[in-house]
Amino acid sequence: SYEVEKTEDTEGESKAQTRVTHSIVFVTSEAAPYSKTGGLGDVCGSLPIALAAHGHRVMVVSPRYQNGTTADQKFANATDLGRRIKVYCFGGEQEVSFFHEYREGVDWVFVDHPAYHRPGNPYGDSNGAFGDNQVWFGIELGFTLLSYAACEAPLVLPLGGFTYGEKCLFLVNDWHASLVPVLLASKYRPYGVYKEARSILVIHNLSHQGVEPAATFKHLGLPSQWYGALGWVFPTWARTHALDTGEAVNLLKGAVVTSDRILTVSKGYSWEITTPEGGYGLHELLTSRKSVLDGITNGIDVAEWNPSTDEHIAVPYSADVLSGKVKCKMALQKELGLPVRPDCPLIGFIGRLDYQKGIDLIQAATPEIMEEDVQFGVHCCFRLCLGSGDPQYESWMRVAEVTYRDKFRGWVGFNVPISHRITAGCDILLMPSRFEPCGLNQLYAMRYGTIPVVHATGGLRDTVENFNPYAEGGSGTGTGWTFSPLIKDSMLAALRNATKTYREYKTSWEGLMKRCMEKDYTWENAATQYEQVFEWAFIDRP
Ligand code: ADP
Repeated sequence: SYEVEKTEDTEGESKAQTRVTHSIVFVTSEAAPYSKTGGLGDVCGSLPIALAAHGHRVMVVSPRYQNGTTADQKFANATDLGRRIKVYCFGGEQEVSFFHEYREGVDWVFVDHPAYHRPGNPYGDSNGAFGDNQVWFGIELGFTLLSYAACEAPLVLPLGGFTYGEKCLFLVNDWHASLVPVLLASKYRPYGVYKEARSILVIHNLSHQGVEPAATFKHLGLPSQWYGALGWVFPTWARTHALDTGEAVNLLKGAVVTSDRILTVSKGYSWEITTPEGGYGLHELLTSRKSVLDGITNGIDVAEWNPSTDEHIAVPYSADVLSGKVKCKMALQKELGLPVRPDCPLIGFIGRLDYQKGIDLIQAATPEIMEEDVQFGVHCCFRLCLGSGDPQYESWMRVAEVTYRDKFRGWVGFNVPISHRITAGCDILLMPSRFEPCGLNQLYAMRYGTIPVVHATGGLRDTVENFNPYAEGGSGTGTGWTFSPLIKDSMLAALRNATKTYREYKTSWEGLMKRCMEKDYTWENAATQYEQVFEWAFIDRP
């Protein structure tokens, strides 16, 4: 749709300008504050609001999880729209319904089905990650229904009185929503529906692709000639036995081949996924689609993450009045049961206990980190509940707490207020991620004047500028320390540079903090870049 806006030019003359607005449909397995286990939830909770503020009509379609805890209350304001659709998949007829809440200019649409009513998080329960044969159908059915429902929503839901209609733009987030462009191509366009629609696959993490046995294909309800779009062969080393042909279906692959455009959550990551190391088996395919592949760095919710108004932290502060930061640090030390020492560098880690996040490197380096006069707080969670290997990290932290009684604290659990207090109270945030599509914690840290020390990869490399003490006549430039390669010694060297600067060069440290806090990582900025990709997507279909 097109809107004509009146604006004034510099001479004060009124002139007409054309602003193009679109009907946008986000399809996602999580959207904060309704559901969140990581960055995907943050992005799908914030970017839609930023786009709606630009005049677009925006709908977010995600599951209505009900796991029997207080988290269910988050969906309390969403009401049943009274529309039912039937989906034929997984050997039967499934009925799904739609709940709706209009908030901050966005239509939040929650797909309801018994597959979403179970304990645990979107991807697992207390028995472990879904994906094993016993429970796979639960998650696979749920995300298949999500895609079907999202394709129907713009056609059947009269939101605010009228439907979104066929000329819409689907933002397909990660493998959970990846059937959407496949359905558009196989079940709608051949019948003349959605001919004018476009789809953009947004890859938040390529290491999860929705790969399942080839036999799963028959449950997806797709025409058999579309097997090739999803068909996938495991590399030989990943096969389980000699007769294993490695044949599988790969949902994300389906979206890579059928979507109109592909975006990742940083420019650096959009290049990395075209390399054998970063492509997780899809690098050749992604390279073949290079002409439609780009990256946009995520923004952050600057209202939720604002040190001058944050209700979770002990004392508010800002780049102009920094004195509250040390008070937040002392409050955090007290909360963690560490000696209250404002002069001692406090290092933090926030993230999932996952190979991706480099937690093994932290474990290996802890004895050497602890040789210095520093304190270290590790706040982590399991996204996929207790998968194999994770309890090992938990028991390592328990031992480290005893060994380094006055210096080390480890806390396992998903707790947003604590993550705010660690972000505000620490001096340094350590992120030794093996790969990081964008990374949000370094952006939050910078906004709170907490200096990131990160592995130079993906979005971390794009957003953290290495500190150069000699630039600008000795006053320095940069916003933190980046290290490479990903080995213990280079991480320790970067950490030592950070702690030395903290102790011995107070003015440089304050300069670093202020430069970090003044960086612009608003969604406003990212939303404008998304709009350019929307224009590009509508110009022609490759
Ligand atoms: P990923 O999506 O790979 O987990 P991101 O850095 O993109 O990594 O996003 C992680 C999000 O999850 C951030 O909002 C971060 O604050 C949040 N988070 C990570 N660990 C925890 C935790 N233990 N408690 C609360 N929030 C957490």
